[in-house]
Amino acid sequence: MTQTAELSHLFRSLKAPAAARALPKLAERARAEEWTYERFAEALLGSETSSREAHGGESRIRAARFPSRKTLEEFDWTFQHSVKKDVLLHLAQLDFLLGKENVVLLGPPGTGKTHLAIALGIRACLAGHRVLFATATEWVARLLDAQRLGRLSDELRRLGRAPLAIVDEVGYVPFDPEAAKLMFLLVSSRYERASVVMTSNKPFSAWGEVFGDDVVATAMIDRLVHHAEILSLKGDSYRLRGKELAGARLRPDENAQLR
Ligand code: ADP
Ligand code: MG
Repeated sequence: MTQTAELSHLFRSLKAPAAARALPKLAERARAEEWTYERFAEALLGSETSSREAHGGESRIRAARFPSRKTLEEFDWTFQHSVKKDVLLHLAQLDFLLGKENVVLLGPPGTGKTHLAIALGIRACLAGHRVLFATATEWVARLLDAQRLGRLSDELRRLGRAPLAIVDEVGYVPFDPEAAKLMFLLVSSRYERASVVMTSNKPFSAWGEVFGDDVVATAMIDRLVHHAEILSLKGDSYRLRGKELAGARLRPDENAQLR
């Protein structure tokens, strides 16, 4: 066997295709720059580990089922002043996940709640954490299915193994009593065990209406905010930026363009 054939055999049996691809160029550079053997070994092995980490992140991002990809880098902080960039950058360090704390993003439609929730979720995926993303309505449907099959507590336990669950759009659709109970169970099953990022277009004062019951809403808020960063976003919808707003009525075709 030639040396090249032997090497590709070894890379295949180690399942290290990225290192195999990197080898010819790295060897050339190492010779030209007279690297130590250790430096060469580090560069070669490093090319494989960073490719694996990137792929792991990518597969966690796919598994999380984000509705779109959004990053903190894309977020325009000059448009949205009511939330401090420093606070988000700190959250993006993910100490809140290790502390099993929550993040609640409140504010009117279009102010960037979902964007920031996804951006934090993607950071978590890239840092090696499993993330689950769904709207409140989707979470409820999933838990209802489990309940019908008599597997609700198993399902909650299983979901609890993901360090981060994102519950988007609480308040867009009011909950019926069953849905409100399931939402409460989801949050309380994760209490001090795993994190929740929740977004809502309704202030806490309106959650009684959202949950159809002040007692459930209060219990929910109590669990959610005990260890949490609460961010209240204000201002106009980013979707409407640059448009004549200030009470102007949009024509239906303009409205369609904004969706
Ligand atoms: P919300 O969830 O608060 O209703 P979104 O996060 O869905 O709002 O934002 C609506 C759209 O505007 C998305 O495409 C989002 O990426 C974008 N967006 C919102 N705020 C900003 C911002 N400050 N900078 C960049 N894009 C933004
Ligand atoms: Mg949203």
